[in-house]
Amino acid sequence: MSDHGEGLAIGIDLGTTYSCVAVWQHDHIVIIVNDQGMRTTPSYVAFTHIERLVGDAAKNQAARNPANSIFDAKRLIGRRFSDPLVQSDINLWPFKIIEGPGDKPMIIVDYKGEEKHFSAEEISSMVLRMMREIAEAYLGTAVKNAVVTVPAYFNDSQRKATRDAGGIAGLNVLRIINEPTAAAIAYGLDRMASSIGKRNVLIFDLGGGTTDVSLITIEKGVFEVKAVAGDTHLGGEDFDNRMVKHFVNIFKRQHKVDISVNSKALRRLRTACEKAKIILSSAMETTIEVDYLHNGIDFSSTITRAKFAELNMDLFRKCIHIVEKCLTDAKMDKSRVHDVVVTGGSSRIPKVQQLLRDFFNGKELCKSINPDEAVAYGAAVQAAILTGMGNEKLQDIMLLDVTPLSLGIEIRGSDMSIVIPRNTAIPTKKKEKYYTMRDNQTSMLFSVYEGERARTCDNNLLGQFELSGIPLAPRGVTKAKVCFDIDTNGILNVSAKEMTTGVMSKITITNDKVRLSSEEIDRMVQDAEIYKAEDDEHRKKVEAKVALENYAYDMRNTINDKKIGAKLGLVRKKKVNDAIEQVIQWLDGLQLVDSEEYEDKLETLESICNPIIQRICGQNQKL
Ligand code: AMP
Repeated sequence: MSDHGEGLAIGIDLGTTYSCVAVWQHDHIVIIVNDQGMRTTPSYVAFTHIERLVGDAAKNQAARNPANSIFDAKRLIGRRFSDPLVQSDINLWPFKIIEGPGDKPMIIVDYKGEEKHFSAEEISSMVLRMMREIAEAYLGTAVKNAVVTVPAYFNDSQRKATRDAGGIAGLNVLRIINEPTAAAIAYGLDRMASSIGKRNVLIFDLGGGTTDVSLITIEKGVFEVKAVAGDTHLGGEDFDNRMVKHFVNIFKRQHKVDISVNSKALRRLRTACEKAKIILSSAMETTIEVDYLHNGIDFSSTITRAKFAELNMDLFRKCIHIVEKCLTDAKMDKSRVHDVVVTGGSSRIPKVQQLLRDFFNGKELCKSINPDEAVAYGAAVQAAILTGMGNEKLQDIMLLDVTPLSLGIEIRGSDMSIVIPRNTAIPTKKKEKYYTMRDNQTSMLFSVYEGERARTCDNNLLGQFELSGIPLAPRGVTKAKVCFDIDTNGILNVSAKEMTTGVMSKITITNDKVRLSSEEIDRMVQDAEIYKAEDDEHRKKVEAKVALENYAYDMRNTINDKKIGAKLGLVRKKKVNDAIEQVIQWLDGLQLVDSEEYEDKLETLESICNPIIQRICGQNQKL
């Protein structure tokens, strides 16, 4: 592979359930297919006693190996182990999560007979690396740069953790952009040529694990996000879970057995439920069939579209509330929305579409862009703009995004003082003054929070830092100027300066324990290289084994051909046949061995067979 791809950049939609990669090439966006010919790749990583698998290969074996097949890393990334949402997910996942240092959730797997601990960033990095490799295989060149998307509602630590995952995958993450904004680019680019004037566009993105709603105005290539609202824990998997629960109850009624403790059965049932859910988007009824679901009992049951909708109605309504909230925040009446664009796999659910249409008084939804690909499409456009690879069509595009959550400082030990309100356009820098609370205070402790609640205990602590060495003075005299700086990725940096002496605090957020340290990231980058080397080595062994197998079986077919067999004569036929059978027996009884061993065997077998066969078939005969 050449290294000419230095300036190239790809767009990656790192989804909860599926990921997608795209690139700007020859003046248009190409959604890149994976080695299975699919345009999206499951965000799965699996570990077995012989290898590590990513994508389709990992998902395909998940039912057989549920405890070591990891999905949903996006639901964990940047969250604490004690987060109630993490705790509720743990009960549903067939793999094990434990509390790591600093309240960080760690995923435990058995890999090659050894217990291994992985953070969500590491698992996501393996998916990102796979997406990078898919792009490299298509482009025939190394790719370093990428734009990666996140739900608009991702908070600061989730964004940082996603960027870290990119770093571990060896990617230079040029920009983290919001998924709905990316979808809007895909939609806007489609429409830009034909549209006149300003359009208010509501992007409704319902994916596998998240709901994201953005109100964006598009005018002359400027995409200005007016407001975002969402739920990073509401999506297709929650709908699957409701169906799983429903069938677990039916099984219990039918057979008086609770299968919810059988993780393998649950995994198989969940896969069947996801398929049924997808079918119910086009059919009114479907049947679930899982052979030997539990203790040899086959399970079969039907479900209608109406029942599926009923099971999830409260969740579907929650999605509509998010739309309402977004419009309220944008101070826009729904009648002023020109287009409602739906994206994300779960937006195909007919009931969701109906609720959305009803909410907008019967307005038809825009479905012109493929909901599975729109986000990667937009990310690739942004990647092309940032690397100067795009054409004049892209030159006019400008993104103006917003911050999804209010950011502030704790005051009086319990209250939230907002420095940057939610839905402020980013990048942004805001300063606020804070005074000492006690006489002769020598230091000031700043606790940085994100969230919308008045009391800090209801918000999310991002970190703390101390401003020390301040001059002695009565309370309220000494003041510090605190500066909040959000970059284009939506990532926050905070600093504080004492105003009389000019003492500047360390701007690092010291107790940001959920975040990986740079040493940890370096270690994970090295580990990732080791895992990649192991994967490559494994692939090499398999390829060498297949080459030997193919040759041996081809030869067996050749000598069994009546015409060739007759020309060979008994002695030569026996010599070739013995050599082939010996190799086949050796292959049958063997675990994988080093590729060199297979290559040596192949060379030996060729040295026996080729001269004899070639003499019979003639030099140019292709064997
Ligand atoms: P995304 O995160 O956008 O890739 O969406 C993935 C989610 O969409 C998964 O939960 C899928 O099961 C779901 N999904 C995909 N196609 C459909 C469909 N036709 N009907 C309902 N859900 C779907």
